[in-house]
Amino acid sequence: MLKYTFMKNIYLIDVTNRDGVQTSRILLSKLAKTMLNVYLDRMGIFQSEVGFPTLKHEVNYINANLDLAKKGVIKNLRLEGWCRAVPEDIELTFKNCPDIKHLNISISTSDIMIEGKFQGRKTWKDILNSMVEALKTAKALGAETVGVNAEDASRTETEKLIEFATAARENGASRFRYCDTLGADDPISIYQKIKKIAEASQVDLEMHCHNDLGMAEAVSLAGAQGAIESGVDAYINTTINGYGERAGNCDLVSIILALTYSHGFEDKVHLADRVDLKKAWKLARYASYAFDIPIPIKQVGVGANAFAHESGIHADGALKDRRNYELYDPEDVGRGEPEMLHTGRVITTGEYGGLKGFAHVYDDLGIHFRDDKQARKILELVQYANLHTQKPLTDDELVFIAENPEIVSKILTVSAGIK
Ligand SMILES: [Zn+2]
Repeated sequence: MLKYTFMKNIYLIDVTNRDGVQTSRILLSKLAKTMLNVYLDRMGIFQSEVGFPTLKHEVNYINANLDLAKKGVIKNLRLEGWCRAVPEDIELTFKNCPDIKHLNISISTSDIMIEGKFQGRKTWKDILNSMVEALKTAKALGAETVGVNAEDASRTETEKLIEFATAARENGASRFRYCDTLGADDPISIYQKIKKIAEASQVDLEMHCHNDLGMAEAVSLAGAQGAIESGVDAYINTTINGYGERAGNCDLVSIILALTYSHGFEDKVHLADRVDLKKAWKLARYASYAFDIPIPIKQVGVGANAFAHESGIHADGALKDRRNYELYDPEDVGRGEPEMLHTGRVITTGEYGGLKGFAHVYDDLGIHFRDDKQARKILELVQYANLHTQKPLTDDELVFIAENPEIVSKILTVSAGIK
């Protein structure tokens, strides 16, 4: 049997705060986006695509998150902004968010999109030139890393993608993002295609795969395998619980489990992140709460039935030895602890809360305020935060607000700015 020794690494770039939130009919508050970044950092994920630095209502949130990184609240997670690969977007990005260091810039590369979107106004050469100009502008304005995205790569000829990826590398790009924008790829052909692109361009490969055919994780994994076998690092784009456009994106927890337990990957050191899978349960549940979308009963790792057994043969087998019917343990994804549910009197704090209730709630969290002045300041932030999220604040959100009042104040400041 052919055994590969993977010399290269696989990193995870979570795009929930960009691809997840841009999805039709699902929303996330800026505070919740921030909490996701904090949780992703604690989980050891490599990078978060935080959002759109060219979009006015994202600017304070992005700058506040960059402040969190400076302050050391976000320790290792790279915070990266997304914009179109046109020089004017790059300039606006740095005008709005001068401290941003990581970017992904995107442009359509397939004939169908070039013709359909630009209606004859752009040729293939124009696409290449726009990408190179945008990339050079980003580097000149201080970007440390730039990923270059080929939108609709899966419907773009491989030779063109090699030309695009090579031009990106030659002009200072850190990575080439292969976007299976319509979720049209299959694991076997993408593995071969990514191998060709990686071997020819020798640029690190980023897999961005959608789930329209139910194969987002399989396709991401196969592409990443093609990349690392070709001597470049691979990056996989994920979203929490798979939230994303249409049928969603490659699910974060599923891909970590696949990289850890699938027969092709187990026992190999390839996942470069300091990933703590035990944080999965909390993160998935928070995202579900914040997005207001239930976790499907059969969700990988974190669904209610992921470790449930009832049928005679299965229950008997699992009781004798859980390995008969389980690939990994509930504890591996952070499950197994009992959770407390208040069934009696409860005091909460929020949008219309006062000082006494507020102090009681924070006392229970082990947080005590110096004096009334400080307490009133945090209470006001709690009121605004709750106005902003429109759902009960979680304990972690309350702690975060008390520990980072100035930054939270910036996150909550969203001005319309219409002239
Ligand atoms: Zn996408």
